[in-house]
Amino acid sequence: MIDDILEFNKKFVGNKGYEKYITGKYPDKKIAVLSCMDTRLTELLPAALGIKNGDVNLIKNAGGVISHPFGSVIRSLMVAIYELGVKEVMVVAHSDCGACHMNGNEMIKQMKARGIRQETIDMIRFCGVDLGAWLDGFEDTEKSVKKTVRSIMEHPLIPEDIIVRGFIIDSVTGELTEV
Ligand code: ZN
Repeated sequence: MIDDILEFNKKFVGNKGYEKYITGKYPDKKIAVLSCMDTRLTELLPAALGIKNGDVNLIKNAGGVISHPFGSVIRSLMVAIYELGVKEVMVVAHSDCGACHMNGNEMIKQMKARGIRQETIDMIRFCGVDLGAWLDGFEDTEKSVKKTVRSIMEHPLIPEDIIVRGFIIDSVTGELTEV
């Protein structure tokens, strides 16, 4: 698994496979893309959007959502906007997303089956974390995208001139639909 990747990496560097990817750290298109970690999007998303190395800041997580107003996604957007010159943000959810209909309480059952103790879960709840809600997915992809777009636009630390638009990409054809 990871060892296979390490073996490949040696050859990649040895053969100077990196040469065609050399670019700067500032996104040439001045766009940040927030999307899902789904495996189907790894190559499809950049190909379907026509983006290559150096073009955008790509931020990914399960569902392409903002789960906390001061979490890692907003932090990354702060860096993209204030440090790297991003002016537009694309939120790109996708069809058949694993985070759609994901159930936090079901996941807690899985944790217990894998040896996480009830006391640990109780302690985290006691610290004020609503674990079930934190792990819950969304029920409606379009609504989720709209909510994410709104959370970015209305965030007190995002400047008003930043353009934020939401899309759903077809996980097979790569077709974008604006929501
Ligand atoms: Zn997904």
